[in-house]
Amino acid sequence: MSGKIHLIRWLLAALGTWLLIGWETGTLSAQLADLVIRGGKVITLDETQPEAEAIAIRGNRILAVGSSQAVAPLVGSGTKVIELEPGQTVIPGLIEGHGHYLGLGQSLMMLNLAKARTWEEIVTQVEVAARVTPPGQWIIGRGWHQSKWDTPPESAVGGYPTAEALSRVAPNHPVLLTHASGHMSIANDYALRLGEVTPETIAPEGGEILKLADGRPTGVLRERAQELVTRALVRDQAKQSAEQRAADFARAIELAGKECLRYGITSFQDAGSSVETIRELRRYAAAGKLPVRLWAMVRDDLELIRQQAANLKMVGYGEQFLTVAAVKLSIDGALGPHGAWLLAPYADLPGSVGLNTIPLETVQAAAEFCATRGFQLCVHAIGDRANRETLDIFEATLQKYPSRTPRRWRIEHAQHLHPDDIPRFGSLGIIAAMQGVHCTSDAIFVPQRLGQLRAEQGAYVWRSLLDSGAVVTNGTDAPVEELNPFPSLYASVTRQLPNGLRFFPKQVMTREEALRSYTIDSAYAAFEEHEKGSLVAGKLADLAVLDRNLLTCAAEEISGTRVLYTLLGGKVVYTGETEPR
Ligand SMILES: [Zn+2]
Repeated sequence: MSGKIHLIRWLLAALGTWLLIGWETGTLSAQLADLVIRGGKVITLDETQPEAEAIAIRGNRILAVGSSQAVAPLVGSGTKVIELEPGQTVIPGLIEGHGHYLGLGQSLMMLNLAKARTWEEIVTQVEVAARVTPPGQWIIGRGWHQSKWDTPPESAVGGYPTAEALSRVAPNHPVLLTHASGHMSIANDYALRLGEVTPETIAPEGGEILKLADGRPTGVLRERAQELVTRALVRDQAKQSAEQRAADFARAIELAGKECLRYGITSFQDAGSSVETIRELRRYAAAGKLPVRLWAMVRDDLELIRQQAANLKMVGYGEQFLTVAAVKLSIDGALGPHGAWLLAPYADLPGSVGLNTIPLETVQAAAEFCATRGFQLCVHAIGDRANRETLDIFEATLQKYPSRTPRRWRIEHAQHLHPDDIPRFGSLGIIAAMQGVHCTSDAIFVPQRLGQLRAEQGAYVWRSLLDSGAVVTNGTDAPVEELNPFPSLYASVTRQLPNGLRFFPKQVMTREEALRSYTIDSAYAAFEEHEKGSLVAGKLADLAVLDRNLLTCAAEEISGTRVLYTLLGGKVVYTGETEPR
C-alpha cells in the first residue's frame, strides 16, 4: 500500500516539475507570432508534414507550421494575420540554383536582345541606342540567340550574323552584343579596333575569331576570343570615377534583388564572382544591404583564391545573407555555339568536338585546393567529354581525400552525359546543378548538334539522374535565361516546347521533385538544408505565397504562376499588388 502511495506521490511531483518547467519556458507571450499566414494551403517540402493550413513566424524564423487550430493560440493582439483565399499556396522561398547575380543586375541595365525575332530588330535596337549615347561610349547588349529568329540574317558566316550592320548604324560607338549563352559575342568595327582585333590577330587558346573569306573578322568572337574586346571594355570602365562604378554596382545589386523577390526567390546561388566582387558583397552583407541571400562561388585566378582563402570563406555571414565556400571553374563552352566539349564530333560540325576551355591540370589543382581547404568545387560542364573529365577528377580527388560526409561537389549544367556516366553522380555524391528551362530553350537545336541517339540517351536526363540517386538542383542561369522560375518548373515536369513538341518526355520530373529541386535540394547543394528549403519550425522564415497550387494545377498553368507575397527573414519584401506585371 505504502509503495503505491509513494509511486503516486512521485508521479505527482514529476508532473508538477514538468508543469513548472513548461510554464517557465513556455510563457505565453514569448510564444506569440509576429505574423501568421492562414486560409490557403502550405506546401512544406518537409516529409514529416507535407501539407499544412497555417504558418506562424516570429522574428526572422518560423515559429510553427500546422493546422489552423494548432496555430490559432499563437495569434495575439500584436500578431499580423494574412488571410489567404482558398487555392492560394505557401511554399518555401525559392532558391535559384545557378545564376549570375551581378550579371543579372547588369543585364537589366543594358539592351535586352532576348525578345528579338530577327537580327534586323537587334540592329534597330542598337541604332536607337546610338542616337542617345554620347559618341565613343559603349553600347552593350545581351541575350541574342540565332535559333530564336524567324528568318536568318541577310549576311551570315558560320550560321552567325556579321557585324557589318552594327558598324553601319553605330560607326561612332563601340558595340558589343553577347549571345544568350554568354559563350559568344559580336563586336562592331569600332569595338574590334579598341580590342586590336585585325585580320592577323590569332585567337587566344580556347577561343575563335570568325573570319570572312578575305580574312577580315566578321565580328563574332567565340569563347575566350571575347576577352580581346571585353578587355578593352573593362579598360574603359576602369576610367570611370570610383563613384560612378560604386553607383553602377549598387544599382546592379538592387535591380537583381528586385527581380528575385518578384519571383519568390529568396536565395540565389551565384555561379562565379571574382575575389574583388566578393569583397564588395561582403561589405553589403555586413551593412545589411543585400536584398536576397547569396551563396556565391568564387571564380578567379586559383593562386589568388589560394592566397585569399581565409578571408574569402564565410558561412552565413551578415545574418545568413552571404556564404562563400565554393570555387567555380568552366571546363568547356555551351552547345549552341558548338563550344560544348564532346566525346565524339558534332553531328552538324563533323570536324569539331567543341572546346576545352581550361587545362585539366588547373581543374586538378583546384580539386586539391578544395579538398584540403574545405571548399566545394563547382565545375561548369556541358558536353559529355567535359562531364566525364570532371567526374574523373572529382572521383580521383574524393578517393585521395576521403571525407566522412559527402563533399557535395557540383557539376554545373551536366547537360549532355554519356550513359555510362549517369550513375556516377549518385554513387559519388556529386550534385547535378541543372536548369529546367535550358532543356526546352535548346531542344530545337540539340538533335542537330548531337544527333538523335545522343540527344535521347544523354541530354538533360534529370529523370535518369534522380533514379540513380543523384541530387538535382534547378535554376535559370539568369541572365542567360529569364530569372522567372515558373517556366523552368514547367519545363522540368513537361519538357514541352512552345510549339507543342515534347523533348524526350520520359525524362520529366514529378511536380514534387521539381519543387524540391528549387528548394530543399538546392539548399542541400549549398550545405544550407538546416536553415532553408522547407517550412519547418526553427528555419529562416523565407517563403513565397503563390496564386495557385503548383502540385495540383493544370500543367499548362505552371508557367503563368503569380507571386502574391515574398517573405524574407519574416518580413514581407514583395507584394504582387505593388507592381503591375
Ligand atoms: Zn552560368
